[in-house]
Amino acid sequence: MPELPEIHLFAKDMHQELVGKTFDAVEIVQPKSLNLPPEDFRGRLIGTSIQAVSYHGKWIQLELSKGWLLINLGMGGEILLITDENYPEKVRLAFRFTDGSSLAVNFWWFGYAHWADTLADHAMTAKLGPNAIDLSLEAFRSLLQGRRGAIKPFLLNQARIAGIGNVTVQDPLFRARIHPMRKISDLSDDEVEALYGEIQHTLREAIEHGGSKWERNLYGRHGSWGKDFFSVAYRLDEPCPVCGKTIEKIKTGSTSSYICAHCQL
Ligand SMILES: [Zn+2]
Repeated sequence: MPELPEIHLFAKDMHQELVGKTFDAVEIVQPKSLNLPPEDFRGRLIGTSIQAVSYHGKWIQLELSKGWLLINLGMGGEILLITDENYPEKVRLAFRFTDGSSLAVNFWWFGYAHWADTLADHAMTAKLGPNAIDLSLEAFRSLLQGRRGAIKPFLLNQARIAGIGNVTVQDPLFRARIHPMRKISDLSDDEVEALYGEIQHTLREAIEHGGSKWERNLYGRHGSWGKDFFSVAYRLDEPCPVCGKTIEKIKTGSTSSYICAHCQL
């Protein structure tokens, strides 16, 4: 499942490749991923051109000459820039441009392609918190201020902070020596600062290495950021790199976490 690093890279590559292209045709295999009837959706796009590509949380935002196209890969999928020669086998949506290239979108399970007149009109992105990578330490502190509940579910709640998922949350908590279910109100200023720094480090490291090795980018290439970079995440029964005790997997609300119970309090 793509998280902030992969979405960040999609938006950057799509901005570089797609700005200036004009929609010529839209192939719709999975109409339920749209927020408009297929004919209406097609009608809004054809003839408009792409001005800029950005992202908010797990949504990729294409600013058009009129309106916005918003894509969310859900539990995962592919967005590929292709030509007729390398048209992929599995496509849920394909956007063909007047220059003959296409953007092919596949959802592994379910995703969204929405049209919106303005971003404020689109409830699913309007309610998201700020992108995790754009937060200052002070902004992070104020988001945590007065919050009850445990730290990990808070970090995964996209309405509070956007873009962090179960892959990018685990090592920052370990390296800041914080148990995923610690109460936010019990965190010291130093712990909040350490956690903030580790989140920023993890997101930037993943971006530098082309995103997760389980995901493919706009050109169909896998990233190189994976288990080799992780301290505890997905390292069940291996020794903790700090104290040598065995890494455990625990339930943390609706998700699981790999932790060192000796180092993370
Ligand atoms: Zn340990």
